[in-house]
Amino acid sequence: MFCPGCGNEVANDAVICVKCGRRVGKEAIAGAEDGKWTTGVFVALILVTVLVPYVGGLIGLIFGIIGLTKPAKKKQGLILILTAVGGFILSMAFWGAVIGSMFLADSYDYYGVLDIIYLIA
Ligand SMILES: [Zn+2]
Repeated sequence: MFCPGCGNEVANDAVICVKCGRRVGKEAIAGAEDGKWTTGVFVALILVTVLVPYVGGLIGLIFGIIGLTKPAKKKQGLILILTAVGGFILSMAFWGAVIGSMFLADSYDYYGVLDIIYLIA
């Protein structure tokens, strides 16, 4: 196999690369894969989830589910899913309010027009 750090060929049962000293082998790869997302990556995921319309929530949901399948990322995955779902509910409430107020504005206009017609007639 090859060292993931420097690309040097190492023995298949090697634990440490003799050239650069990096841990190699299945344990090192599994450890990296099962680690938590770094704070930078996690904050970026949250920002994408919150700030990118529609697609962001979906991305947050997908990464959240991926996180839930990995023990070390479970907590972060859960936060991502809650953020995505919470954002979805908030945006639905927001657009519901916008559409609702548009509808009310329309009906006010409608009655306003009727008043004018009655005044003229
Ligand atoms: Zn190496």
